[in-house]
Amino acid sequence: MSLKKKHMIYSPGLTELPPLPNDIASLTSEFRHYYTHNLGRDKYCRSLHYAYKALALTVRDRLMERWKQTRYAYLDSDCKQTYYLSLEFLMGRALGNAMLNLGITDHVSQALLDLGLQLEDLVEAEIDAGLGNGGLGRLAACFLDSCATLQLPVMGYGIRYEYGMFRQRIVDGRQVEEPDHWLREGHPWEVERPEYTQRIRFGGKSEFFRTAAGELAGRWVDTSDVLAVPYDIPIPGYKNGTVNTLRLWKAAATDEFNLGEFNAGSYTESVAAKNAAENITMVLYPNDASENGKELRLRQQYFLASASLQDIIARWRALYKGDFGTFADKNCFQLNDTHPSCAVPELMRLLMDEQGMAWDQAWDITTRTMAYTNHTLLPEALEKWPVQLFRNLLPRILDIIFEINARFLKLVADRWPGDSERLRRMSLIEEGAVPQVRMAYLAIVASFSVNGVAELHSQLLVQGLFRDFFELWPHKFNNKTNGVTPRRWIAWCNPAMSRLISEAIGDGWTSDLQQIRQLVPLAEDPAFRERWHAVKLINKQRMADMVEAQCGVTFDPNGLFDVQVKRIHEYKRQLLNLLHVIHLYNRIKRGDTATWTNRCVLIGGKAAPGYYMAKLTIKLINNVAQVINNDPLVGDLLKVAFLPNYRVTAMEVVCPGTDLSEQISTAGKEASGTGNMKFMMNGAVTIGTLDGANIEIRQEVGDDNFFMFGLTAEEVEALRPQYDPAAIIDADPDLNRVMQLLYSGHFNMFEPGIFDPVINAITSPTDPWMVAADFRSFVDAQARVAEAYRDRERWTRMSIINSALSTKFSTDRTILDYNREIWNLQPVRLDMKQG
Ligand SMILES: *Cc1c(COP(=O)(O)O)cnc(C)c1O
Repeated sequence: MSLKKKHMIYSPGLTELPPLPNDIASLTSEFRHYYTHNLGRDKYCRSLHYAYKALALTVRDRLMERWKQTRYAYLDSDCKQTYYLSLEFLMGRALGNAMLNLGITDHVSQALLDLGLQLEDLVEAEIDAGLGNGGLGRLAACFLDSCATLQLPVMGYGIRYEYGMFRQRIVDGRQVEEPDHWLREGHPWEVERPEYTQRIRFGGKSEFFRTAAGELAGRWVDTSDVLAVPYDIPIPGYKNGTVNTLRLWKAAATDEFNLGEFNAGSYTESVAAKNAAENITMVLYPNDASENGKELRLRQQYFLASASLQDIIARWRALYKGDFGTFADKNCFQLNDTHPSCAVPELMRLLMDEQGMAWDQAWDITTRTMAYTNHTLLPEALEKWPVQLFRNLLPRILDIIFEINARFLKLVADRWPGDSERLRRMSLIEEGAVPQVRMAYLAIVASFSVNGVAELHSQLLVQGLFRDFFELWPHKFNNKTNGVTPRRWIAWCNPAMSRLISEAIGDGWTSDLQQIRQLVPLAEDPAFRERWHAVKLINKQRMADMVEAQCGVTFDPNGLFDVQVKRIHEYKRQLLNLLHVIHLYNRIKRGDTATWTNRCVLIGGKAAPGYYMAKLTIKLINNVAQVINNDPLVGDLLKVAFLPNYRVTAMEVVCPGTDLSEQISTAGKEASGTGNMKFMMNGAVTIGTLDGANIEIRQEVGDDNFFMFGLTAEEVEALRPQYDPAAIIDADPDLNRVMQLLYSGHFNMFEPGIFDPVINAITSPTDPWMVAADFRSFVDAQARVAEAYRDRERWTRMSIINSALSTKFSTDRTILDYNREIWNLQPVRLDMKQG
């Protein structure tokens, strides 16, 4: 409080500046200024990092005035805003994206050339902001790009993890994790804003008392507090003057906490306590699609929810004082999965305990502002927290959850009198030896909108997991099929293809992907196909260079580039892919190569450090690759490589160079997928199951331009009770030979038995992922792929059609859907010339 007052100034002369010029001379001179005067480097400096940093600061300056004008415009128009709350933002690099969206890439490139520097080298010096695991975190990043491009007043709220997603190295074929201290050389894109620091409570106890008006009220006392310090990152829209904000919170110790310990004579303990406080934002939990129930993770979740809501309420109070009459009309909170769902009871607490509101009014506001996105059907990913943990860590929050539950169960009992089984099923508290809070149910009860992320996923949600809630509130449930931003995932990462597209149809497609449909007729133009093919070859060579450097495996760009990159998980079935690879290898060994398509198979992805089967899968992929790549009989017929440390920056090289996109999850398990969309936009053809957004991709391009295989979600569930993989293996000579190779230890000569758990999983009648069930269908589809690829004209046509019909999978479309059906925000136009 005192901090804020002391540092407040208002000086009009300090705030208004003319826009910075983007001509080559200005860019050059400002780059030199930063490099020499700000960073103190000279021509002898051996680290590219400082040149990168000088350029980042030069580019960031060009966002600052727009950023401020955007904030003013939101304030002046008094518009409704949406807050995207997410424990993950997988941003990747920022420099290229900022230059692209400002439209200054060519000038910057020229300015650097004049100084004897290559833009690409500086771009490569940036460390990925890896503050996410995979699809869910990358979706949040793509959403921010589209919101800024559509000029929607949307702000991201997340955590500034000191350590992001671990770096993966492969040693003897096994994953080794290394900490990702991405902030070690500073982060030029962030602006620290200590003046907006918030105080977050933990521990203590709750008390009840009578207010002066005689009302029963609660309060949270004897807490151990932690400070939340915001760091803002600019999110530029595409050539439109808008710069939105991603606000990331860092934990810091309070001063008085220190002082108390110090007075008690335990200075070192007080420093240790400071450490404990700052631990909250130390590290991203590296689990994708599974929860691990660690107390520190719940601390992170509450920390994010509380800091963000207090921040928003403080801004509200600065404008409206204590009047919350229109709060629900002007604010919306989109919860990215249940991770930030502590926001529900926390908003109730803030409105009641801090703003003095009664329950009914606070609940009205909460249920009109909360919206929840579900990302998974996997039971192991559904968050539940032990009631006891809440009692210790967040006692006042637990009171409120209990009260929400009591009122909710009364509503259910009124609707279905006497149905106690239903009450037990729907309760926010799961009874048992260790009672638990069901976070998804908490989010559903408090939200006016609950969405899945692809048509099939949204259907399965209301038929299965959330069926009871759908019967109660059908109007809450809706679908918002995921997307990816075409700025990063075409315009930035695939300059060769972008140039070709713009030459053919103009450059409007970057912000209006509908226009890319104009490529459809060009698929029939042999000259255009030739140019498309030439672009693909350039991109394949770029990818091959990366594979050579990273894996020491040589990919010949004339072969079919067959790629599966994503988190390693049993449901994504990297194993099925590998069984096909072993099948091809076996065909070569048997001399069954009369008709053959050379293939380069790339698999990449991180395994959660505690996920044994995923890590063993990585080892198996590497061992199989080792055997195949070193067999002189195989040569260029088949190459296999495991790409280490898969991340956003790697995908920017991989998706433009891919011919065949592997999307082969067990039907009904992949909520949407977004990797599938990045590949499609870049002209890869998909081999996929009828799962997640694959279904919608196939709908767009038609069966002729998609290689579909495998059981449907319904067939999977129907087969499950009588699933008999041993019989399937027996009846299929190809699968039999593949299994024999695995049994024989051919891929683990010096490590007998290490792959037994994999073999057992495939042959188990309770294999949840039914790998053996889809083998035949997969191998047959792969044969059709190989045949199609041998016909270059046909393949190129399919490639063009896939890009041309990818319009639906732009996050611009996704965000317009969110806005039309959930947020109802008005775009705020900014004068492009300004700043
Ligand atoms: C797009 C992306 C993902 C998501 O891939 P899926 O195939 O949808 O699982 C994961 N990680 C990174 C780095 C990505 O860019």
